[in-house]
Amino acid sequence: MATIFTKIAAGEIPSYKVAESEDFYAFLDINPLAEGHTLVIPRKTEADYIFDLDDETYAGLTAFAKKVAVAIKKAIPCKRVGVAVLGMEVPHTHIHLVPLQSEGDLNFSNKKKQLTPERFAEIAAAIAAEFND
Ligand code: AMP
Repeated sequence: MATIFTKIAAGEIPSYKVAESEDFYAFLDINPLAEGHTLVIPRKTEADYIFDLDDETYAGLTAFAKKVAVAIKKAIPCKRVGVAVLGMEVPHTHIHLVPLQSEGDLNFSNKKKQLTPERFAEIAAAIAAEFND
């Protein structure tokens, strides 16, 4: 059975798309630690654990995540874009990219931001515009 993230990348479940390529897909985390919190996933494998990816997919995923992070940094005022891999909840490899003002912003125990659908769409469009620039 396909994972929820495979369905998202296929457009079968809605998401706030930030960027995509043939092999990778980036979209906003629905329970963000900060505005612009983005998830980056591979399309062609559902491997649960990032370090089980083959080297080519791992390198492609991280290179794609770098491009997305550069776009996030341009679109969202922040000091750094933090990177995290947890996978405690969804068993489909994903990289979290989180705009940071301080170290504590990357604590996954923090209260998540509540955003309206309009705000999610606005943020996704702003990052997408920088990615496609
Ligand atoms: P983890 O597997 O521990 O890295 O956490 C999974 C992350 O995916 C969490 O931050 C969730 O908020 C996020 N998430 C789960 N379902 C969705 C969804 N349908 N759209 C966007 N983000 C999601």
